[in-house]
Amino acid sequence: QNKDGKLGIALVGLGGYAGGQLAPALQQTEHCYLAGIVTGTPSKAIAWKEKYNLPDKNIYNYENYDSIKDNPDIDIIYVVLPNHMHAEYTVRGAKAGKHIICEKPMAITVAECDQMIAACKEAGKQLSIGYRLHFDPYNLEMKRLGQQKVYGDIKKISSGFSFVAQKGIWRLDKKIAGGGPLMDLGVYCLQAVMYTTGMEPVAVTAQTFPISDPDKFKDIEETLAWQMEMPNGLIAECRTSYSESSNFLKAEAEKGWFELQPAFNYSGLKGNTSGGQMDYPRLSQQAKQMDAFALSVKNKQQSIVPGEMGRRDVKIIEAIYEAMKTGKRVTV
Ligand code: NDP
Repeated sequence: QNKDGKLGIALVGLGGYAGGQLAPALQQTEHCYLAGIVTGTPSKAIAWKEKYNLPDKNIYNYENYDSIKDNPDIDIIYVVLPNHMHAEYTVRGAKAGKHIICEKPMAITVAECDQMIAACKEAGKQLSIGYRLHFDPYNLEMKRLGQQKVYGDIKKISSGFSFVAQKGIWRLDKKIAGGGPLMDLGVYCLQAVMYTTGMEPVAVTAQTFPISDPDKFKDIEETLAWQMEMPNGLIAECRTSYSESSNFLKAEAEKGWFELQPAFNYSGLKGNTSGGQMDYPRLSQQAKQMDAFALSVKNKQQSIVPGEMGRRDVKIIEAIYEAMKTGKRVTV
C-alpha cells in the first residue's frame, strides 16, 4: 500500500497483455497501482523500470520471485504468464503471502485449479481471475437483459469467438496452452452464455472439424463447435476457431432479442436490441477489474470473479474436450 492508500500490484510476465493493456490501465486505477514486475527478460526489466519509474527493489525474475514475500510494497500479484505457468506462479505467490489475480484460463486442469484455490485459502489470501468483461457495461447489459428476463425467457442463445492464429505461437502448443482455441477464446463464449442466462450447463456435446494445416495444428483443435445444455432445456450454441474470424453473443427471447458484435474486445463493443441500440462511454475494462479486486481485498469481500468461477469454467472445458473426443454427451 502506498501513501495514497493504493494497493501495490506486481505484474508477472511482461508480454502482450501485461504491456499493452494492464500496465496502461494501472495508470488510471484509483485503488491500486503498478508497484513491481516479475520478468525473465532483463531488457524488459530495464525498459519498464524507466517507463514506469519502478524502484530496483520491486523488480524480480522467476528465480528470486519467492522473495517477494519480504516486500511490503507488493499487495497483489497478477499472473499474466502462458497458461501452463498459471498454477505454479499462483501457488508460489500465495505462499509469499500475496493476494492473486490470475489470467484466464485459470489453469490447464481442474486439479491445478484446486491446488491454486487451496494455496490461497491456506495463506488467507484472495484469488481472482482476469475476467474483465464482468466489468464491461455492454456485457453487463446482456447479463441484466437476460437474467432479469426483460424480453422474457431466452429461447435461443449463441456465441462465437475466433481469430486466425499465426503459426509458431505458444497458443498452438498444447503443453503450454493446455488446448486450442477453446482454452483461449471459447472460454469467453461459455462465460457469456452463463452470465447472460444466469445458468450453468448440465451437459455438453461437441464437434471438431478436419485440420487444414497439420503442421500448424499438431495436437490441438483448429475449429470446435459445442452445445451447452442448460438446466431448463435451453441449448446454447458456441463455436471457436484459430482459422476463422468471429466475435459475438446473441440472445433471442420470447418478446425480443439482444446481441453484442463485437462482444469480447477491449473497446469498441457494439450492442443492439429489439428495443434499440446500446451506447456506453469508453472505459478501461482492466482498470475497473483491478480496482474492483483492490476494493475486495481492502473490504475483505470475495471477488465477483473468484478462483471458484475459474475452476467451474475449466471443469466445463474439460467436459467439452471429453465430448469432442468421445462424440458423446458429457454431463458437467
Ligand atoms: P505473451 O506471449 O504476449 O506474454 C507472455 C509472457 O510470459 C512473455 O512475454 C514472458 O514475459 C513470459 N513467459 C515466461 N515463460 C514463457 C514461455 N515459456 N513462453 C512464453 N512466454 C513466457 O502472452 P499474452 O500476454 O498474450 O498472454 C498471457 C496470459 O494472459 C495468457 O494466459 C492469456 O490467456 C492471458 N490473456 C488474457 C487476456 C484478457 O483479455 N483477459 C488477453 C490476452 C491474454 P517475460 O519476458 O517478462 O518473462
